[in-house]
Amino acid sequence: TPAPASPLLQNLNPEQLAAVTLPAGNALILAGAGSGKTRVLTTRIAWLLQTGQVSPGGILAVTFTNKAAKEMLARLTAMLPINARGMWIGTFHGLCNRFLRAHWKLAGLPSTFQILDTQDQLSAIKRLMKQFNVDEERFPAKQTQWFIAGAKEDGLRPRDVETRTDDDRKKVELYQLYEEQCQREGVVDFGELMLRSYELLRDNDPVREHYQRRFRHILIDEFQDTNRLQYAWIKMLAGQTVEGRFVPGDNSVLAVGDDDQSIYAFRGARVGNMADFVREFEVTHQIKLEQNYRSYSNILDSANALISHNKKRLGKNLRTDQGPGEPVRVYESTSDFAEAQWMVEEMRQLVRDGIDRKEMAVLYRSNAQSRVIETALFNAAVPYRVYGGLRFFERAEIKHALAYLRLLENKDDDTSFLRIVNFPPRGIGARSIEQLQDAARAAGRSLHDAVAAVGGKAGANLSAFVAKIDVLREQTQGLSLREIIELVLQHSGLIEHYRSEREGADRIENLEELVNAAESFVTQEGFGRDAVAMPVDELRQSPASQGLDPNLPITDEPLAPDAETGETMSPLAAFLTHAALESGDNQAQAGQDAVQLMTVHAAKGLEFDCVFITGMEEGLFPHENSLSDHESLEEERRLMYVAITRARQRLYLSHSQTRMLHGQTRYNVKSRFFEELPETALKWLTPKNQGFTPSAFGYGGGYASTRGGSYGSSKESFASPPVPPQKAAPSHGLRSGMQVFHNKFGEGTVLALEGSGDDARAQVNFPRHGIKWLALSVAKLTPV
Ligand code: ATP
Ligand code: MG
Repeated sequence: TPAPASPLLQNLNPEQLAAVTLPAGNALILAGAGSGKTRVLTTRIAWLLQTGQVSPGGILAVTFTNKAAKEMLARLTAMLPINARGMWIGTFHGLCNRFLRAHWKLAGLPSTFQILDTQDQLSAIKRLMKQFNVDEERFPAKQTQWFIAGAKEDGLRPRDVETRTDDDRKKVELYQLYEEQCQREGVVDFGELMLRSYELLRDNDPVREHYQRRFRHILIDEFQDTNRLQYAWIKMLAGQTVEGRFVPGDNSVLAVGDDDQSIYAFRGARVGNMADFVREFEVTHQIKLEQNYRSYSNILDSANALISHNKKRLGKNLRTDQGPGEPVRVYESTSDFAEAQWMVEEMRQLVRDGIDRKEMAVLYRSNAQSRVIETALFNAAVPYRVYGGLRFFERAEIKHALAYLRLLENKDDDTSFLRIVNFPPRGIGARSIEQLQDAARAAGRSLHDAVAAVGGKAGANLSAFVAKIDVLREQTQGLSLREIIELVLQHSGLIEHYRSEREGADRIENLEELVNAAESFVTQEGFGRDAVAMPVDELRQSPASQGLDPNLPITDEPLAPDAETGETMSPLAAFLTHAALESGDNQAQAGQDAVQLMTVHAAKGLEFDCVFITGMEEGLFPHENSLSDHESLEEERRLMYVAITRARQRLYLSHSQTRMLHGQTRYNVKSRFFEELPETALKWLTPKNQGFTPSAFGYGGGYASTRGGSYGSSKESFASPPVPPQKAAPSHGLRSGMQVFHNKFGEGTVLALEGSGDDARAQVNFPRHGIKWLALSVAKLTPV
């Protein structure tokens, strides 16, 4: 390869350079973790812009998180003196929102449409089911929500869903009713953002052709986790279907991914999209990147060895030039408290070694694990930040405040109405609300518009509430976003209400944080920036924009006026959208040097100097739901692969003999994944243990399921050093890992043992019957 001329292209290896400078056409980069996929994608955008092959308005780039989108934009603006505004960089949801904001009318939405997050969606469904007297036992609301989301991910409207049983028909009917309710209230859920924008592209030729011409380069990171609908959406933008066959257009699509990091199958992700992409987009360039730049070889070897146990793989290699580095450290604790305590100590040492706290991440399989870790960090006064979990914008007090704000924007938003009609309490009871709902239904109006129909004292209270909202709406005209929020916090009575609550101080702080969030949204988050629509000339003059439809808005920034009416989105509406879509990770403590806590799922694409993977236990990681089925176990292994490959320098794996989860103490054996790691890369900080024997711990009898309460007793082991398990065999003589025979289920492997004496139970995996918990006082298990 000739010496790269542009400084942009320095520090790329030959394969990366080839990928960055690919000629036009569709391409796939399939490569393992830390090989520079994201870096290549970003650098390619910069290179395309710098060499004048495309203007910012011709770029569409999809990232997996908002955080990744922001980072990409920041890198690009640092690399090039460009006007980044016209670029469409974001998550699928973010991009679809942007698209629907620009074309709300064509999409059949009100200009002020609001977004329902998963919580809002569930409460909307519950409300609907109650209204239509649907038996919640038979059709749990969560399941209905799952069903609707799944149908939308597959691009199916109610009429498209196949039904076989009465239950199916009922679910489809609920889906239909839910859609009508959302439409009436002017709200869309996450799945709807995607599906609506897909349908608009599919059904409206001028719009589709416009965007096909506009986006010369479409780049998608983490392609292995796209679902069916997202893939179909990309196809809409980059080709046509002629006589049932897809024919790629002349824009260039670059897909970047790693099949070994596909971890969202449970949410509809389809790793098969990669193979379909290669075939349907007639991919001519497939590039593999095999050099890992992230991790030392002990870490990388561990990841490689682990993932080699998966059968379904496309097959890739990954090597590193960095030396072995530190060994991967393994720690066993007696309890989850002790595990957290050890971690805090270890972090202290790392800080002494000069590592920033923000370069330390604690990863866990399940959100429920974070509480104990948070407590330990808090007690030790170590600053930390939790990603995911309950987002800032999902906290109850914030949702209440947002509901007031949403009603100002859209009086028909019944979900918001119901959230606050009696919050703070104003003497409106469940009966009156039911009455109001009946009246609204009868009149075909929103709750807001139907209050006059309810008489008596209840009616008066309801009217007073609606009047309060309407007055607030009047009062907030012409105010800045900050002033609007402050006014609403005062006049809604929220602040006053929390002032009188015992634990209200935190909530008031969060509400004040909401004002800050709005402030930073206006100044730095891009709202102010986006407010200046991209100069039309700049876009029209670009070589890539020939033939753009002049009747369609191309200044489709959130604030850009409607092409016909000049109508623009209010700052409040823009902020509410932001609150629904933004993960809120940047709120509170942003910029502080804090330890990062998150689930493994949330860590995808990120990297840290030091990573702790906690709770490495059978039933937790791999998760118990995955143990009986090969496919899910492979997904768990990919998840572990993602976790390991987040670490640059140091990796710690820990497991605990006991753990409080969901109010129960569980006795655990260490994860099978330990057996799949290369012994030479590991360093056991505690003796490598041979399985768990409850009686050796003095847990005597009767612990079985200590619901709640055993907080105090577990705490004893908090500070004590881990007790290496002794070899004394319990009375039943079983050990985990042992092969046993059961009269009915045949041969199986003991996974875990719990309790002693009459309470003793064993968890056994029977290849033919799956995983079962057996009471040893009843079940006859004989070692084979
Ligand atoms: P993942 O699969 O985890 O998303 P990835 O393939 O996207 O990983 P990147 O995050 O792009 O990998 O890169 C991993 C790290 O290696 C980053 O810190 C990146 O800056 C660095 N890196 C990538 N390529 C090079 C290179 N040629 N020289 C030096 N560092 C590089
Ligand atoms: Mg990446």
